Amino acid sequence: MLAGSDACIQVYGTVQEGHEKSGVHFTYSYNGLNWPGEFEQCRGNKQSPILLPASGAAGKAWPAAGAKSSFSYSSLSNPTILNNGHTLMVALPADYKSAVTIPIRGDKKTATPTSIVSSSAPVSGSVEATPAQFHFHSHSEHVLAGAEYALEMHIVHFIKGDQLPACGTKGCPVVLGVMLALTNDESKVSPELRRIIEAMPLNEGDSATIKGDLNVNALLPANRTYVTYEGSLTAPPCTEGLLWHVMLTPIKISERLLTRYLEAVGDLLCGPSESVVTELAKADKYFKAPPVDKNGCRKIANGHNWRMTQPINGRPLQLGMF
Ligand SMILES: [Zn+2]
Repeated sequence: MLAGSDACIQVYGTVQEGHEKSGVHFTYSYNGLNWPGEFEQCRGNKQSPILLPASGAAGKAWPAAGAKSSFSYSSLSNPTILNNGHTLMVALPADYKSAVTIPIRGDKKTATPTSIVSSSAPVSGSVEATPAQFHFHSHSEHVLAGAEYALEMHIVHFIKGDQLPACGTKGCPVVLGVMLALTNDESKVSPELRRIIEAMPLNEGDSATIKGDLNVNALLPANRTYVTYEGSLTAPPCTEGLLWHVMLTPIKISERLLTRYLEAVGDLLCGPSESVVTELAKADKYFKAPPVDKNGCRKIANGHNWRMTQPINGRPLQLGMF
């Protein structure tokens, strides 16, 4: 999930510093292991992602959420795909239409977005969440019944203060996670996902526009059963109080598209410098190095931007069954 100010836009990847346009950079964040020392909230006890055990394991089925969240999106006209170096991201315009509703327990004047899992008060209705953007993590951040998936898509929404006063002017983030499982059958890949990955620019900082309408609903699985819990942003500042939904049925991505995605967000080696030239000359004996891009950089590794799973600390998991 994203962090940063202003609609939570900065994705924190494996490479913490770098992507400078000159010199070699190898300063890694080790998927968040160093964050607790730098960001107070990353030391919290309601952090994300988490391991989501199989429902019904050890005879303990997840309890029903009592009232369900609902996710429905309209088509997106001429969307822009941004490669920010860590992920591909599609920002949703302010006038984008959707129908995403989140159930609330207790008095709406004081309720929080996570009341459905944190309160025992009766359900008092629902509020609207406005989608802001979606992006991807490789590999998945949540681990579902022991499985990591090739990618995890996050659709980031905000509940605004006019819906829930506790969310104030900044809004409260609500995130939907969808797993992407690898398939060798291209016909099983959503054509809309294919359009996005094929349009994705290969170089950091570049963006591309998909002509026509993109059906965002087609990025969701047919079965929308989800597990919900109270967690956090998966990147600094690791803000808690976030209502997570992770759908249990993955959509599919092909090896060809996954490879394109990983290359597009891969780590860069930028030159020229004597050591870089020497090392790449050695490497060239064994494999064909990727071409140098317009910034004088080469992709040298597949891109990864996932945080390690965090302790559940007894948090309740609930099931929204469809
Ligand atoms: Zn994310």
